Amino acid sequence: MKTKTTVSLPTTGLRSLLCALLGLVCLGLQAQTASNRIDSILPVRGLSISAPGPKGIDAFITFIEKELAPAHFNLLILRVDWGYAYESHPELRDENPLSRADVKKIVAACRKHGIEIAPQINLLGHQSWAKKTGNLLKVYPQFDETPHVITENYPGWPNPDGLYCKSYCPLHPDVHKIVFALIDEITEAFETKLFHAGMDEVFYIGDARCPRCGGHDKAELFAGEVTRLRNHLALQGKRLMIWGDRLIDGKTTGIGEWEASLNNTHRAVDLIPKDVFVCDWHYDRPDKTPVYFAAKGLDVAICPWRKPAVALEELSDMIAFRKGSTPEMRNRFRGLIATVWMGNEGFLRSYYENKAGETESDALTLRKLIEAFKKIDGGAI
Ligand SMILES: [Zn+2]
Repeated sequence: MKTKTTVSLPTTGLRSLLCALLGLVCLGLQAQTASNRIDSILPVRGLSISAPGPKGIDAFITFIEKELAPAHFNLLILRVDWGYAYESHPELRDENPLSRADVKKIVAACRKHGIEIAPQINLLGHQSWAKKTGNLLKVYPQFDETPHVITENYPGWPNPDGLYCKSYCPLHPDVHKIVFALIDEITEAFETKLFHAGMDEVFYIGDARCPRCGGHDKAELFAGEVTRLRNHLALQGKRLMIWGDRLIDGKTTGIGEWEASLNNTHRAVDLIPKDVFVCDWHYDRPDKTPVYFAAKGLDVAICPWRKPAVALEELSDMIAFRKGSTPEMRNRFRGLIATVWMGNEGFLRSYYENKAGETESDALTLRKLIEAFKKIDGGAI
């Protein structure tokens, strides 16, 4: 018989009250007020992209100044992961990481143009990719949720182990001391009140063989980890952003196991604090799930990828949702965050190559969105 055990969430008593108070004044995206036409139509205009390496910093800053700033972008989610020279945990650095001085150059450029930065470290899931184990589990294999699955044997997807990416065990007693130190250091280096924890495509959670998680409710395990990270940030007046897929019921909606959850995590949507910012990614079809998140009381941005037609329809949906909603719902529809899933330097090359005849690509989609943002600002949309 399956045993259901409640995983206690770490908000209790005075700490809970303090978190709630901080949540109300939580900085970043929620606090923006409309100051011009585009701010009122689409408050958040973002790009999510991997951070450049040290040699790519100058080119990336030029891209920010020449492309993003004139198109009124105001948010940059930078996937840093282990590519920063962490002082708190130097053992987790990639080779050739960004230095503090590198980061400060990006910070200065973004500040000049009113662009907020949310550095991202993939937490919980995405601790491996294909045959490569990420630095956290490589250095601390005791945090592995599924140590019986050998990453080096990854045969491709699908496979009998259900291995896509490894996860850390959210109930391991030593993992958060390290994770919190990394979050503190990266948000301090980027001088920001926003942190993106990834948390997408978490397939390994509550594994039956994990001595801590086995038998627990997966929605409660997922919500417990979101809440733990959120509370750590909220105590410093900072805000958590996550990808939204684990919070959507993939079976009932038909959205499936990637852009939604087929592993019973979706009830977490009702268990997490309401100030978590949801990045709702849908790449092949403009699913209307922002309405679901907003109706749950969560701020949401829609996140397209490499199909321009889908991206433009998602943009149009977001504008319509804001227009057609009650005052209570309207401001939870925050905007659109474009995603780029190739290396930073490679992306910049493809952006400026502007290949003729291309119908789908990260670069083409971003160019189309940049045109659209300029049209919104100019009153043409
Ligand atoms: Zn576990």
